[in-house]
This record gives sequence, structure tokens and C-alpha cells, in this order.
Amino acid sequence: MDSAVMSAVAQYCADCKASRPRYANITLGIWLCNHCYGIHRNVGAHVTRTKCVGLDSWSTQELHRMKSIGNERAASYWEGIFLPQNLSPPCLLTYFVLQYQLGS
Ligand SMILES: [Zn+2]
Repeated sequence: MDSAVMSAVAQYCADCKASRPRYANITLGIWLCNHCYGIHRNVGAHVTRTKCVGLDSWSTQELHRMKSIGNERAASYWEGIFLPQNLSPPCLLTYFVLQYQLGS
């Protein structure tokens, strides 16, 4: 499963565009860097599920979800709803809390 996960990982973090993201927000279907993973995880496990590439085990369903959504599809979906222009990193947490509220 690890090689299957590695082949699905995006080249850039969905939030800050850092290269080689190694974490995933399964709920949103996006790939994240270490920094942004921390932000997402702080939202709470009751709201969102996160996993690490290489450390956590992945189910077939989780991998399928990540492949079928992914960074680009998620970005176009959320940006189309309400993402303000020029969102800066300090706004990310607020942005994601709103995302989860809208997505739930
Ligand atoms: Zn990031």
C-alpha cells in the first residue's frame, strides 16, 4: 500500500504550496506539508481525519478518496465557494474552520 500511497501524493502542499507534502487530510482529500498538517489536525479529530504518508496504514477507501479528490479538485471546489483573494497564512485556520463548517 505504501507505494500506492506514494504514487498518489501531490507534488505541492494544498495550502502553502510547499514541495513534497507528506500528510493528508482524508476528510477534504488534500495533501499537506508538516506545517499545514498541524493546522488541520488542530481543528480536531472529531471534525477531520489526517494521516501521514509512510507512517500510517491506509485503507483502499482512503487511498481512493485521495486519488479521486486531490489538491486541484479540492481547491477549485472551495475557491469557487468563498475563498477570498490573496488569503495569507495567518488566515488559514479561520479558512479551514469555515471549510469544515460548510462541508459538514
Ligand atoms: Zn503547507
